[in-house]
Amino acid sequence: MLVLLDRDGVINEDRADFVKSPDELVFIPGALEAIATLNSRGHKVVIVTNQSCIGRGLITLETLDNIHGKLKSALKAKGGRLDDILIAPDAPWAATENRKPGAGMILEALTRFREQPRNTVLVGDSKRDLQAACIAGCHRILVQTGKGRATQSEGLDRALLPVSIARDLTEAVTFIGEGRFTP
Ligand SMILES: [Mg+2]
Repeated sequence: MLVLLDRDGVINEDRADFVKSPDELVFIPGALEAIATLNSRGHKVVIVTNQSCIGRGLITLETLDNIHGKLKSALKAKGGRLDDILIAPDAPWAATENRKPGAGMILEALTRFREQPRNTVLVGDSKRDLQAACIAGCHRILVQTGKGRATQSEGLDRALLPVSIARDLTEAVTFIGEGRFTP
């Protein structure tokens, strides 16, 4: 399968003021190991992340590369790797289709990895992750880390269902292993 991961709130702790440096990238316990498990099962793992901090002028692409350098080396130390990282740098007021809830990044990943939506699952913590996955026709897992609990308690539009709810990425990977994508 193709497994698409939101970054903030799924792999690392979400920050209301954005992850602006490698130091501010704090991993959620078990997340890196969970990615390594996906690798070992032969899944393609791609991050699809809105990074409006670029479009807002808060950090440069070079800084984002450094942040992702920390992510990749920490992952490597756990025996894991990423097949790609897709970024939507758009500010919310100048959003393209790439910025979730747009499906641009997901469609790009499907094309690049020649995968069908029915063989693709997105794991995210925000409603816009689920919306983007829905437009692309992918399976959806909401994790309760990051903004996940707030997303769940706001209630999910019927159009977004079915959505599987996992405690965290570790449990989401268990669901994926069992092919369990519906509540
Ligand atoms: Mg998120």
